[in-house]
Amino acid sequence: MNPVAEENNLIVDRQGRSFRNLRISLTAACNYACTYCVPDGKRLQAAAYELGAQEMIQAVRLLIATAGIDKVRITGGEPLLSPKFGELLKGIMGLGLQDVSLTTNGQLLPRHANDIIESKMKRINVSLDTLNRDAFRDIARSGDLNTVLHGIELMQAGGLKVKINMVPMRGVNDDQIIPLLEYSLERGIELRFIELMNMGHLQASPVHGQQFYSMDEILACISERYGFTRTDAPFDSTAVRYEIPGHGTFGIIANESEPFCKNCTRLRLSSNGDLYGCLSNARSQSIRELLPLSDEEAVPQLQTILLSALGDKQSDNFSGEVTVMKFIGG
Ligand code: SAM
Repeated sequence: MNPVAEENNLIVDRQGRSFRNLRISLTAACNYACTYCVPDGKRLQAAAYELGAQEMIQAVRLLIATAGIDKVRITGGEPLLSPKFGELLKGIMGLGLQDVSLTTNGQLLPRHANDIIESKMKRINVSLDTLNRDAFRDIARSGDLNTVLHGIELMQAGGLKVKINMVPMRGVNDDQIIPLLEYSLERGIELRFIELMNMGHLQASPVHGQQFYSMDEILACISERYGFTRTDAPFDSTAVRYEIPGHGTFGIIANESEPFCKNCTRLRLSSNGDLYGCLSNARSQSIRELLPLSDEEAVPQLQTILLSALGDKQSDNFSGEVTVMKFIGG
């Protein structure tokens, strides 16, 4: 799909897609080593030559000016692990964006709670795959469940809207679908089930096929306990949303069962300054060298890069990639 036009200063492709949502991977390093993200025996390290906080803020500023980005999600790796987090958060919150959010595994939330609450960020996503302490350690291969739960409480007490991301896996944590749903409903949290994506090391192993737990299976599991109806979602939402009358809502990010490529407005910036137009395409383009330039010099070059990044998006199906989420911002 070739991008064809610039409409109202926006770069738009034939499917009407432009870049509106930016995900920035603050660091590729992580304090967890989740089985679906990191191969056995490996730990995630920071990439060589990470952008500094001010470079990253300048990159976001340029992307707002050039692409019309209005939403930014800070992710990683584990963003709260980065010493740049505080400075970056302040800078990004000062850019006048419509929405700034954070995706974290929650392990360092208690340490950063005040900064986050004081930044006036309104919402946060915490990844949590189980409420069982042993299973938690088996999946994350690090961390402490109670610390994450405490972090969630602090965020809610500070007025932030919390969503929880869970990746259900057959035989691993599929018994946690209802417990995590009830934990979330009781606290006014929206739980989002993410279908296991065939990314990174999963591509070369039978694990994805064995553990993949589909949207239909998730819905069948929930329907044994609750009635629900599907609700409307915004054009560029990745989640299919459901309401359980009188209880709350939940969502499913059904990469395989109901791909959202047609409406995808996401752009990703890696911690070392590479832009990715599609999670399912390993092609990237560096914008590091544009950062010291004046806007007059940088914007036209960035436009060319964005046109080509938009062409990297898939038409309708998510097929997975060898790239690992931590590099390009999960
Ligand atoms: N460290 C942060 C966290 O844990 O939320 C941010 C980065 S993490 C890569 C972002 C999200 O990607 C997490 O919710 C994680 O569960 C999800 N993720 C990573 N690999 C995945 C895969 N193969 N399939 C589905 N979700 C995946």
